[in-house]
Amino acid sequence: MIDLKGKVAVVTGGSRGIGRACSVLLARAGADVVIGYRGNEKAASDTAVAVEAEGRRVLTVAGDLADAEAAQLLFTRARDAFGRVNIVVANAGIWKHAPIDTMTTGQWRETISANLDSLYQTCHFAARIMKQQKSGKLIIIASTAGQRGEAEYAHYAASKGAAIAMTRSLGSELGPYGINVNCVAPGWVLTDMTTDVFENPEFRQSIEQSIPVRRIASPEDIAGPVLFLASELSRHLQGSILSVNGGSVMA
Ligand code: NAD
Repeated sequence: MIDLKGKVAVVTGGSRGIGRACSVLLARAGADVVIGYRGNEKAASDTAVAVEAEGRRVLTVAGDLADAEAAQLLFTRARDAFGRVNIVVANAGIWKHAPIDTMTTGQWRETISANLDSLYQTCHFAARIMKQQKSGKLIIIASTAGQRGEAEYAHYAASKGAAIAMTRSLGSELGPYGINVNCVAPGWVLTDMTTDVFENPEFRQSIEQSIPVRRIASPEDIAGPVLFLASELSRHLQGSILSVNGGSVMA
């Protein structure tokens, strides 16, 4: 029912975790995929192989997306290779522990740069192409932290709250150009980002018990709603925040 044949998707942070799951699922639905990643070439090429195994074309582009030149390169290379960009999943991000009283300016800047500057750059270059095309699907990955805050991760929560505000702002701004802008806000997901904290079995159990569906999401649990937002089934959703968290935050 969802058919993305002929569509081109750019997935930032597409080499691993949620981004990898999105890349593979979008490819399975028929899209060619451009994987933006920061530096882990092995992870990017593994994901590229998985996309090709779905019978789709793939391109990998390295670069720190907080940097305007790197972000521009990602979109230029995508358009040069495939002629268009129909779907963008703005997924790149980091999550680092830092209580506010000991948080350094460097730690604050690092998170705002990776999560918010990169989101601005991604949306900026995506919108340039999509406005010309008069169509597009822009999907922003936020977090429950942006909805209800997160103790000892205030910089992260601030960046994700801003991602939600960006979704609503760009939903208003870009809707008249045929561009759908929506957001997926995951709760806990088992990825490299959270491996360390879930190594503690008691902590893991306490998190599972706190989630109404009693399980922690896999990356594929997030990729499904992303695929829906990338498809025409969601064409009347605009500026929406899909809470994909097993019921842990009902915002
Ligand atoms: P991950 O660490 O496995 O992957 C993050 C990806 O982002 C990597 O490919 C990394 O290279 C890329 N990235 C980070 N900074 C970048 C930059 N400046 N430029 C280019 N690429 C950059 O993490 P994940 O769990 O898959 O997280 C993906 C997204 O989902 C993030 O935005 C994260 O905040 C969000 N999220 C994750 C969870 C979770 O529990 N894992 C929960 C809520 C939201």
